[in-house]
Amino acid sequence: MTQEKMQFQTEVARLLDIVANALYSNQEIFLRELVSNASDACDKLRYLSLTDSDLLKDDSELKIRLTVDKEAKTLTIADNGIGMNRDDLIANLGTIAKSGTLDFLKNFSKDKKDVSQIGQFGVGFYSSFMVSEKVTVNTRRAGEDRSWTWTSDGQGEYTIDEGSSDVARGTTVTLHLKEDAGEYLEENRLSSIVGRYSDHIQFPVVMKGEEEDQSLNSASALWTRSKSDISEEQYEEFYRHTANAFDSPWLTMHNTTEGVIEYTSLLYVPSQAPFDLFQPERKIGVQLFVQRVFITDECQELLPGYLRFVRGIVDSSDLPLNISRELLQDNPVLRKIRSGLTKRILGELKKKAEKDAESYLSFWAAFGAVIKEGLYEDFEQRDTLLGLTRFNSSTSDQLTSLADYVSRMKEGQNAVFYITGESLEAIKNSPHLEGFRSKGVEVLLMTDPVDDFWLGQIGEFDGKPFKSITRVAADLDEIKSETEDDKKEEKKDAPNVAAVLELFKLGLGDKIKDVRVTQRLTDSPVCLVADDGDIDIHLARILKQHKQLNESQQRILEVNPNHPIIIQLKNKLDGGTSASDLEDYTEVLYGQAIIQEGESLPDPANFTKKLNKILAAKIA
Ligand code: ADP
Repeated sequence: MTQEKMQFQTEVARLLDIVANALYSNQEIFLRELVSNASDACDKLRYLSLTDSDLLKDDSELKIRLTVDKEAKTLTIADNGIGMNRDDLIANLGTIAKSGTLDFLKNFSKDKKDVSQIGQFGVGFYSSFMVSEKVTVNTRRAGEDRSWTWTSDGQGEYTIDEGSSDVARGTTVTLHLKEDAGEYLEENRLSSIVGRYSDHIQFPVVMKGEEEDQSLNSASALWTRSKSDISEEQYEEFYRHTANAFDSPWLTMHNTTEGVIEYTSLLYVPSQAPFDLFQPERKIGVQLFVQRVFITDECQELLPGYLRFVRGIVDSSDLPLNISRELLQDNPVLRKIRSGLTKRILGELKKKAEKDAESYLSFWAAFGAVIKEGLYEDFEQRDTLLGLTRFNSSTSDQLTSLADYVSRMKEGQNAVFYITGESLEAIKNSPHLEGFRSKGVEVLLMTDPVDDFWLGQIGEFDGKPFKSITRVAADLDEIKSETEDDKKEEKKDAPNVAAVLELFKLGLGDKIKDVRVTQRLTDSPVCLVADDGDIDIHLARILKQHKQLNESQQRILEVNPNHPIIIQLKNKLDGGTSASDLEDYTEVLYGQAIIQEGESLPDPANFTKKLNKILAAKIA
């Protein structure tokens, strides 16, 4: 077959252009990326050989070999892993494979000068072009006869040739090093890079020595070593390798469980949230090993969904080695492991929250919204999860726990008050907060979409019911005010505005469920609330957005009897003005209340017309 020339996908070409021209101080990571790929390839072959032992027959000792040729100025990284056929080559080394790549490109275009970010995104195989003017990949896929050669200088094109049939199984990557990359021909330099980044690789990484192969890594599974033999750097490198991540872990948990079921886990909580945390395809990212053999990184049963940000590995000797990925579903051993891991992770989070509250808040900022999903998914862990949850508050800029909120509750207050909404900005200015603020009663401010759902399921904390302040039942009357002034204010009877209530009832008809006087407002004339037993206003909006609710909900209009507008309306009515002459006012006030809820007006044209009529009368 003749040579075929192919174009890189546009994004790859752009990426290569950036990588090749980057003045990047941490170039050496290209070796980590290539060794990591080689190790993955060995993992994949070992897994397949569990059911098809012939695949390993020709060469059963999985290994990664570095070779330098000082004359030709080449460095090769060879593995006898799974290898690639022609289709694999095109899909993997010509098209974007890694989600991080797109992310990198997006961020990069924002600030064209800063290339130092490359390292954060891990551009994988393509990072070889940081040090090479040409890269050649010779590869034969396990179980197949034909071999292939991929070559590129990273300038927009690559070629694929058929190779000879005596090429060994696996992949050999040959880097034709750039003039200024001679350091990567030095054995000592290579040995120290492998030691730094790839010591944890399970397969031997070797280099040809004077007489015999020289080993560059420990080649034992990191998690099988004792904690005291593992340095922090090694833990971190292992995290980056398994999580495909480039930050440092926020929390590292390494444990062996003995007893009925034995397993070792090395788990990490990242310090940064991945960009796809809330995308539906985001899966449990912990890798499953059985007796140190990699089985899968797609085992959804290993952890509950609300811990999907946890990374790392679990290795058990109580699962059969030849377990198929299908059999992993509904497996009693896995169920026990999952429950054990969940308890351990939540326990460690609790410890962090107690011992290092400030650092815990950074964790909460990154992953709190995910943890909250557990509040309605995991009945068993509900109390623990409630204890871990932190909230914004109407009376402080600090996040607070429920226990702390309860300890600050006012005399006579017997509920945990909250309000949900789209953004902190919006709910901080909500009219519903006015009365609570003036009485100094703290309200929890919640802005995650999951909040309405778990609140709907969890009735109370520590015997105190959760009450939305957008409901009528969240009554302020019971709560004592702090200052004498407030007390006087309370004693002063509010004007009797029964006539105004009638006016609203008449004017708004069945647009509303009821009209009543409220204590909760100080600055606003009116607001809308949900009746007890009705769907909360914010929840109704979410449900409508997801097409799970069609009809509009009738709300209760609450009226502030001390507001000048309401008092003026009362005076007009008392003075004999007819209800029909005041109709525009009720419509406009009702429209305002809708707007303040962040809802859109059902008839904006009509609202504007009435508002303009009032303004025109005022100017005249
Ligand atoms: P990543 O390894 O993060 O997926 P890379 O760009 O480094 O991203 O590699 C892209 C893909 O190319 C890999 O997912 C793998 O399928 C394939 N690949 C790379 N190196 C090898 C190798 N040595 N053996 C087999 N496949 C490989």
